[in-house]
Amino acid sequence: MKMNRKIKKALLLGAACGAVLGMGLTFAAASKALDTKEATLAKVQDKLKEENKDLQSKLKQQKAVEAAAVLSKEEPDNWELVLVNNDYPLDKEYQPELAEILEGRSVDARIAEDTKQMLEDAQAGGLKMYVCSAYRSYDDQKTVFNETMQNWVNQGSSLLDAYDETKKSVAIPGYSEHATGLALDITSEDYQELDDKQADTAESKWLAENCYKYGFILRYPPDKADITGIIYEPWHYRYVGKEAAKEMKEKNVTLEEYLGVK
Ligand SMILES: [Zn+2]
Repeated sequence: MKMNRKIKKALLLGAACGAVLGMGLTFAAASKALDTKEATLAKVQDKLKEENKDLQSKLKQQKAVEAAAVLSKEEPDNWELVLVNNDYPLDKEYQPELAEILEGRSVDARIAEDTKQMLEDAQAGGLKMYVCSAYRSYDDQKTVFNETMQNWVNQGSSLLDAYDETKKSVAIPGYSEHATGLALDITSEDYQELDDKQADTAESKWLAENCYKYGFILRYPPDKADITGIIYEPWHYRYVGKEAAKEMKEKNVTLEEYLGVK
């Protein structure tokens, strides 16, 4: 029975090994299951985070839209994020509390300090800033619009063509950010033309790079005209608050994208 004992021994050994191996396999399976569970959990968490982000951005968007609607009546929380564009007009009765930052140039009093600081810092660095436009009332905007349109008519355009052409560079009264008191047109003192070449001036370059530190954004960037509805305006700066300005610069998004309406 020697052989039998040997076989028996081998079988026992095999069984023992099998048990160890089996335990190992069970352990591996359990560990794998745990990993899968963790991965699933992480996925759920990610999804929740994503949903939360969506919710937050929807909330922000809703708040901004509400802000635009009630800006003239009460003090909304998100006043600095108010959206005014071709789709979101501003109540023509809206009248911000103004503060004069330079002779003949006023802004919403709440942004006066940041605006002055930005201009001062630029000037301290040897730059020559020229604020060609700041707050413009509904009536001022109407005047600018009519004058620009008249220029087109004088050059031979039909009324309809003149209107269309004017719309490209001047906001229709009621649809201009300048009426909020949160927008400024800033050029170099040495080059005051409102055209693409403005972007090449040292003043414009400095502003594009540094304005976010003071709560401003370049409102109409060159590659975003299809989103903003306005052509590239290297001179038009809009206050949105420091936190939002920093985020918009980092993500390279417009106010419309930031608020999730485009
Ligand atoms: Zn402007």
